[in-house]
Amino acid sequence: MKNEILKVGDLYHIGIAVQDSEKTAKLYTETMGLRIEHDEVVMDQGVRAIMLVPQKSKSAAIELLEPVIPESPITKYIEKKGEGMHHICYLVDDIKIGISHLKNMGIEMIDNEPRVGLNNTLVAFAHPKSMNSVLIELAQKIT
Ligand code: ZN
Repeated sequence: MKNEILKVGDLYHIGIAVQDSEKTAKLYTETMGLRIEHDEVVMDQGVRAIMLVPQKSKSAAIELLEPVIPESPITKYIEKKGEGMHHICYLVDDIKIGISHLKNMGIEMIDNEPRVGLNNTLVAFAHPKSMNSVLIELAQKIT
């Protein structure tokens, strides 16, 4: 089978690791006029995630990720690298095809199977060591 390039869709969000998502959301809403679109605790990943979008456009969101348990990957990330940019997420039409295309191209996936993300999505992460040190998330919206 020919290796096909994965053609991703819109940039969906940029994930940011923070100690205090509420405080950071307040800062961004009160200084840049971002609006809270979604606020959810994803126990599977041990995080509280707050999604913020611009009031004036449909551009990509930012996703504030606050660890809610010590075993959260975000706890470890902040200990190692400090708060800040954590990952970028692109939308795909079909997450399973997305995973298999990347794997066929030799990309190491953290998730070989889709898992449930926040805000009605299925997601999968590609390993940063395969992606020039950037953690890439693919997301498929489900309704
Ligand atoms: Zn994300």
